[in-house]
Amino acid sequence: MRPVEVVEVGARDGLQNEREIIGTDGKLGLIARLMAAGVRRIEVASFVNPARVPQMADGEAVIAALPDLPGMRYIGLCLNKRGVLRALATREGGARGVDEAGCVLVASDTFGLKNQGQTIEEGIRENREMLKLAREGGLVPQVTISAAFGCPFEGHVPPATVARLAGEMADAGAVEIAIADTIGVGVPAQVADLVGRVREAAPGIRLRAHFHNTRGTGIANAWSAYEAGVDVLDSSLGGLGGCPFAPRATGNIATEDLVYLMDRSGVGTGIDLEALIAVNQWFEPVLGRPMPSLAARAGNWTGAPAA
Ligand code: MG
Repeated sequence: MRPVEVVEVGARDGLQNEREIIGTDGKLGLIARLMAAGVRRIEVASFVNPARVPQMADGEAVIAALPDLPGMRYIGLCLNKRGVLRALATREGGARGVDEAGCVLVASDTFGLKNQGQTIEEGIRENREMLKLAREGGLVPQVTISAAFGCPFEGHVPPATVARLAGEMADAGAVEIAIADTIGVGVPAQVADLVGRVREAAPGIRLRAHFHNTRGTGIANAWSAYEAGVDVLDSSLGGLGGCPFAPRATGNIATEDLVYLMDRSGVGTGIDLEALIAVNQWFEPVLGRPMPSLAARAGNWTGAPAA
């Protein structure tokens, strides 16, 4: 079985929707423990307006204090050129900064306007410039197509639209394209279909998938994406997450549940599930409430007889 790369989004997607602000130290403690559990690629912040997303207001402070472990890759989420400029600024003066500009293109006009003030066509133009800025500044240029499986306002999103956007972004120099089910409406058959269409529209580009477990299909969707050839999956510790601009959006698939699924299927992730469950147990009191991960609650099961 080929391995899968897990991108931990807990420190960004996971926390952006929380009402209680998690302080910079809490975020750094979370990131350090995730790294110790084997996570090597982490979305650490988003460069958004702090008035709109207060949880992300300390993005630069988090990034300035990140450990410089060899092999780590840090992603900063960027919704516009201003975000990419902030990502580039984290590397000024020889600072370690972030490695990747995670750009976002929304596959629906209404959600795009609410989330980042861009229609689809405006988003294409903006992302073309963002990817160019990122690449020229030495950041890995990658893009997530959000609301790819459905829009909280417009409903059905034509798969042909998502495929067209993927083609545009490949042409604009994205080295990785993600399809994101921002509001957790997708099902496995849809995943397989959409992955096929996106691959056809953007041949040779690394594909990533991002699922929310809002309706219980997230982990099945992750497996469907893996079987369809996706090599990179997003998930968040504990299944935290949501979107401040998408009504009723709930948590990402839980990293613990994803690692359990992959471990038991013989698919390597490089992440230690027991260590991850310990991170969950450390973080719950920091967060102040239980998190939805099922594997963390039930514990690992390896097939060995009970002691
Ligand atoms: Mg998300």
